[in-house]
Amino acid sequence: MNSLERMMAALNGQPVDQTPVAIHHFLVTGRYAGFDDLGQWLQDGDMLAAGQLASWRELRHDALLIENGVTAMAQALGSEIVYPKSIPPHVRRPLLADGLEGLDHLRVPDPRTAHPLCEVLKAVRICRRETQDKVFIMGRADQGPNALAMALRGPEQWLMDLMDPDQDALVTRVLELTTACCTRYALALLEAGAHGSCIGGAGVSVLSPQLYMQREWPHQRSWCQAVRDAGGRAFVHACGNEQAILDDMADTGAHSLELAPDTPLTAVRELMLRLTPVLGMLSPILFEQGTTDELRDHVRRTLKMFAGCSRFIIGPGCALPVDSPLENLAAFVDEVRRYPAS
Ligand SMILES: [Zn+2]
Repeated sequence: MNSLERMMAALNGQPVDQTPVAIHHFLVTGRYAGFDDLGQWLQDGDMLAAGQLASWRELRHDALLIENGVTAMAQALGSEIVYPKSIPPHVRRPLLADGLEGLDHLRVPDPRTAHPLCEVLKAVRICRRETQDKVFIMGRADQGPNALAMALRGPEQWLMDLMDPDQDALVTRVLELTTACCTRYALALLEAGAHGSCIGGAGVSVLSPQLYMQREWPHQRSWCQAVRDAGGRAFVHACGNEQAILDDMADTGAHSLELAPDTPLTAVRELMLRLTPVLGMLSPILFEQGTTDELRDHVRRTLKMFAGCSRFIIGPGCALPVDSPLENLAAFVDEVRRYPAS
């Protein structure tokens, strides 16, 4: 099997020769190409692609996860973004800090022309062309409905808005806008050559289960449906312990969930055996702070835990920190490749 076939088989719940490997390491990839200014190469499609491809040629993982950070859409909508040399970009001041009414001035950006979305599209086009269907290309559509709203409004203020009955109509309109933004972006990424896309979902580490079902789930579902209708594979990412909503997340229609080890492995195993592929489950912190031996041991234990799950795609459960040692990434892929799928 080549990498693309291995990924597609896992997403379809079919047998694989080896557990597919996906690495959420866009903050690290530039180092493989010799770039040292994170703020520069994250905004340049040629450099984004060069980093992804240099990393792939060395590690030979099965899926390229292409993005430029968690602020791409906020920037395209007009937020001022700070791009430091050695830490991820962040919003200087939320665009809607003075009130949700500012929404009236916002329009869904055209990803083909809006910076930096157009640069990520360029990176996807280059990576698809250079890898020639040997590897799965994931063009990530930035933040999901509530996560983008938090970037625009400020996280705490947005959570207060969600619970304020007087803001109900405006909250609805914000979520319609943010969903339209990540949907249009995902469709453009697929058109540029991505086999799949992903949104950063807000799970129950951020929202109550009730708010998740009312204010996040319907929008995730419509995003997944749009990606499916366009022939792409839909992934939904969540950063915390999502055990309480695993079945609901699967019900969004996502082809795969992206989960961190905060969610109990037994619950994830049960979900995969029954229903839905999962990408992730390794600790990003261990990639950054662990030794190669500790990482290899973590990989072996995780593979053992998910033995018999053909729907498992192994990788760090969230974006790897900027300074993760490259030898840990090499040890990770090497360790997975030692074992045939069981
Ligand atoms: Zn995450």
